[in-house]
Amino acid sequence: MTKTTFTFKELKRTNHREIKRMQDQKFRAFIRYQVWPNHPYYRRLFKENDIDPFNITCIEDWAKYKIPLVKKHEYKDNLAQFVLNPSQVDGKDRDPAKIVSDLMTYTKKSGKSDEYKFIRNNGARVKLHLGADSAKENLQNHLTHRYAPLQFWLSSGRASGLPSPVFLTRYDNEMLFKNCVKVGQMAVDPWIDSGWELSSMNLFPYAPHLGWHAVNLGLKQMSKFYIATSAGGAIPSEKLVEIAKSFKANGFAGMPSYLRNRFFRAMKESDYTAPEKVVVLLAGEKIYDPVAQDITQTLQDKGAKEVRIIGGYASSESKISFAVQCDHRGPYHNVSPLMLSFEFIAMNDDGTYDFVDEDESGHVTLFHLDGAGTIFEGFLLGDVASRHENGPCPLCGIDGPFFWDIGRQNDAEAQIDIMGLREKKIKGATVNLTALREDLLSLGEVEEIQVEVAKEDMSDPYSMDVLNLYVAPKGPITANYDSLILEIKRITKNSTEVTPNVFIIAFEELLEKAGGMKFMEICDVRPKPA
Ligand SMILES: [Zn+2]
Repeated sequence: MTKTTFTFKELKRTNHREIKRMQDQKFRAFIRYQVWPNHPYYRRLFKENDIDPFNITCIEDWAKYKIPLVKKHEYKDNLAQFVLNPSQVDGKDRDPAKIVSDLMTYTKKSGKSDEYKFIRNNGARVKLHLGADSAKENLQNHLTHRYAPLQFWLSSGRASGLPSPVFLTRYDNEMLFKNCVKVGQMAVDPWIDSGWELSSMNLFPYAPHLGWHAVNLGLKQMSKFYIATSAGGAIPSEKLVEIAKSFKANGFAGMPSYLRNRFFRAMKESDYTAPEKVVVLLAGEKIYDPVAQDITQTLQDKGAKEVRIIGGYASSESKISFAVQCDHRGPYHNVSPLMLSFEFIAMNDDGTYDFVDEDESGHVTLFHLDGAGTIFEGFLLGDVASRHENGPCPLCGIDGPFFWDIGRQNDAEAQIDIMGLREKKIKGATVNLTALREDLLSLGEVEEIQVEVAKEDMSDPYSMDVLNLYVAPKGPITANYDSLILEIKRITKNSTEVTPNVFIIAFEELLEKAGGMKFMEICDVRPKPA
């Protein structure tokens, strides 16, 4: 029998060749019997490019058959087309018997033997009229469990009005539950044999994104005691430090800039005693060495003897799958390689692409190997890894796929080439500033606007991000713009989750500030880390 997903123990003892063999088996079955029949976008893409999905035998065949990669704007323009929908094919209703037989074939070919037996047995009872009604109900419930969207979280950027939802079904939720705990298990692995127990604190902002929810599910499973918070959202950071002290929290998960600039700063100034061993899981933003050092220093000053700082990597689109470091200086291990493959590609000048060799840098590209709801194959995330490997990790010894030095493609022109739109990451939220500027310009009172991404403390590249809006109103400047400022803040908060600083200035002054003839409508003035 083939696994659906590895436990952390299984992940540690399976070698990369075996993982690759299982990945390709799962990918083949998924493309042929789930994506091809049920995914409107890829069905059309295959037809338009004359691709026989039964020729695709491994992930690398995506490049061999020159199947176009999917950029973010294509997804945003076709949200419903990215959701697995077995009830329809090419716009027509599908025979329920065909839905069941496709799923039965898929479960057999992908090695999901329990699910296969369940479908086969109930299908046989329907055919033979042996308790057909209850068998039909079993199958119906199973299809709902697998395919009906239960919830969504938001992906970055947006087409119009709202950020784009990524849908999850109950089946996805189960897989999320199994996969997210492995992120934490990797983080604390060196301490577990000594009987160390985790008392953890979720310090991610509460929002409809993967971060808070995945951490919540994962920490709850593996902690002896768990404290869910919403970072500084509901309780001030100073109070959160008191809570950490009362409950002797020895594990903290959150975004690097919030933890360094708010939580650990509040800790530094408080009467706090750190536990002997502390683990900190960082995700949502690039992790810079000085940030990790600041956090470690604060904890050591407060009495910690050993501090482990670990980075996690995921995205709304990776949904139920994660990569996590085994050590602050180590690579990111894919802890759910049977559900999703991170691949690395280089774009060629003629629009084609190749999978890169292990020592080359590449754009992170997602391939789902399992799951339901919103599904992506060959999806460009906009992040770059400096290199990737398959084999035993030089730091922790786990044998499998892993990658190094993940960062964002920050150059605006390259971003448009790669993702089809321009985004900035501000306070961990990915924001489409072009769309924001257009929304604000459509306000009757606004003549011109410059959007600026900066830092709270411009002399500290690791301080919190801020969004500054320089607004020139129509007509001569008058005394009172309170309602305009409120409206601009409301629109910005709605579409970006960030509350901006709004500065009202005269049109001529704005033109001069923003570069005169070469008006810079969007600028990122954040100081670069050394
Ligand atoms: Zn490792």
